[in-house]
Amino acid sequence: MTLKPVMLGIVAVIVVFGVVIGQDYAVIRTAQEDVLLMDTFVRLVAEGREAESVLVQAVAEMSRLESLLSAHIPGSDVWRINESQGEPVVVSPEIIDVLELATLVYDKSDGTFDVTVGAVMRTWGFGTDTLAVPSAEALAEAMRGVGFDSVAIDSDTRTVQLTNPYTRLDLGGIAKGYIVDRALEFIRSQGIKHAIVDAGGDVRVMGGRPGKYLWDKSRPARVGVQDPFSPEGLIAIVEVSEGSVLTSGDYERFFVQDEVRYTHIIDPRTGYPARGITSATIVTEEAALADAIATAVMVLGRDEGMKLINSWAGVEGMLITEDEEILISNGLKNTIQVLR
Ligand code: ADP
Ligand code: MG
Repeated sequence: MTLKPVMLGIVAVIVVFGVVIGQDYAVIRTAQEDVLLMDTFVRLVAEGREAESVLVQAVAEMSRLESLLSAHIPGSDVWRINESQGEPVVVSPEIIDVLELATLVYDKSDGTFDVTVGAVMRTWGFGTDTLAVPSAEALAEAMRGVGFDSVAIDSDTRTVQLTNPYTRLDLGGIAKGYIVDRALEFIRSQGIKHAIVDAGGDVRVMGGRPGKYLWDKSRPARVGVQDPFSPEGLIAIVEVSEGSVLTSGDYERFFVQDEVRYTHIIDPRTGYPARGITSATIVTEEAALADAIATAVMVLGRDEGMKLINSWAGVEGMLITEDEEILISNGLKNTIQVLR
């Protein structure tokens, strides 16, 4: 997730399908909100009496969270940590939440999901306008800061401290999923039982399938997975009533130099962009977890990636390799429809 302040302008479109039901003629509506957030198109859909105003508030919450979690927005919590020169920084509880989940995935993924790739991301130019293969010296220097053991997290005092002067955080591999979760939880807290939050293909579903006017509660939502080889089309459809379907790919944010494609997911062991997997789709309850696992799996590659997915209870997934091989985890085979 590269975040540019200029993208923060919010364009809101509300489409309302009003239906009159019940004795008190209260109106249950399906409301929809389309906005640009986190450098991507975000769509929220919900059914309920106050759905429109709830969605407007959910968007405000997403925008607030983005400005805490982005490394690129001056003054954000992550920005303050990165500028702290080794001093402990008091952060919002959300940062501690995200870092705790990041710790779990770091541990379970053999360190391939590592939010200390910040300096390496910069060296390649991700998050800036000039993308290029860095010099060996620049990369070696940036690599000195990689290692999650350089981040001291204290949940009691709510402080984060970088104990290595080269270390820079980048939560881009988990923030979008986390923000989707928080938006959905907010919507739920307002009494709404049917909603979908979709941040550029990072989708969380609650309460079945959206219908033309009202939700079809008895059937799962159908979430499309973009075809990495022809991005206007879908390669698969996953059915889900409650939970997340989230895809990381090497085909959306990348650059090409000397005919080699460099994607924005870094292997923390080498400092080089991940190779081999073109898209990783993760299906699990929480979008934040799915987001981090998807990033890890891009780094782990085909065999180790599938191993991680198949061994993690409650986590399913589909990997598509550069040579167009499609691998589907055991528990997903019955709920996914592959379209080729
Ligand atoms: P997006 O959905 O925005 O494409 P991804 O979930 O695919 O994002 O994650 C890519 C982002 O994760 C990068 O832009 C960077 O911020 C961060 N990142 C890159 N490599 C790693 C890694 N090995 N571990 C954790 N985060 C990473
Ligand atoms: Mg991710």
